Amino acid sequence: WQKLKSGLARTSSSLTTGITAIFTKRKLDGATLDELEDILIQADLGLPTAMKITEALRRDRFDKEISDEEVRAVLAHEVEKVLLPVAKPLAIDTSLKPHVILVVGVNGTGKTTTIGKLAQMLGREGRKVTLCAGDTFRAAAIDQLRIWGSRTGASVIAREPGADAAGLAFDALKAAKADGSDVLVIDTAGRLQNKAELMAELEKIVRVIKKQDLSAPHDVLLTLDATTGQNALNQVEIFGKVAGVTGLVMTKLDGTARGGILVAIAEKFRLPVHFIGVGEGADDLEPFEASDFAKAIAG
Ligand code: GDP
Repeated sequence: WQKLKSGLARTSSSLTTGITAIFTKRKLDGATLDELEDILIQADLGLPTAMKITEALRRDRFDKEISDEEVRAVLAHEVEKVLLPVAKPLAIDTSLKPHVILVVGVNGTGKTTTIGKLAQMLGREGRKVTLCAGDTFRAAAIDQLRIWGSRTGASVIAREPGADAAGLAFDALKAAKADGSDVLVIDTAGRLQNKAELMAELEKIVRVIKKQDLSAPHDVLLTLDATTGQNALNQVEIFGKVAGVTGLVMTKLDGTARGGILVAIAEKFRLPVHFIGVGEGADDLEPFEASDFAKAIAG
């Protein structure tokens, strides 16, 4: 909670400073509501949520004096209502050996780091974890995953850079089955520059996994970088079509002023949000919690 609260301090301070400026010694009327709506939109919360907040205020408090604390309480309440239905823990099915998680997302959004953090979390829960270095385009991504493996005790299945990612995923699932792993987490390349290639590669990975286990992958997680703001909305759209995303991880919520984007994404796509990233360290992955997030945003 402390990390989340300090991580979102910039998002909440831009909101609360604006709210205080609008409502100090002023009534809640059409003009102040318009100004408030602008601030909420600038904070990336999205138009539908911004309207819900201003409508709630208009309905209950129109033409009355209102303190900024009261406005922030309504903000927290309305944001929590949007987030509650999507805040869902990632459920690992222990009867599957392994539970297969495919991790997709644009390069730099935090895929590999999130996989490392997940390996840490699952390892602590006593699960046997295998990681597959499926971003075969970048030597650095393969090295990074190996480091996470040795740090967390997870096995890492990797090949030399340039190897066929689908072939590697096939081998990784075989190996994870053979050694009784509880969870297999597969990294992937995230080159949005060539969408057709990206699509073909992700489809091929899913196809070869299904050859061994028709129910897999059991989760397709999309990592989104909170600092990119509105861009994240396009990424959900694209990867949703290409990879059949089942859940989201929002990274880099430490120190961004654009944390409100998570609310816009929740409102627009209604996809489960499983985790948030609040730093670069192994322990900086937290299960997503609607009420904490709403409170941290509202300051
Ligand atoms: P990938 O290309 O999607 O695999 O992204 P990486 O996992 O390599 O991450 C890109 C950069 O973002 C690295 O420098 C990470 O340390 C950093 N990063 C990832 N997640 C977080 C986070 O939650 N907070 C912060 N501050 N940095 C993060």
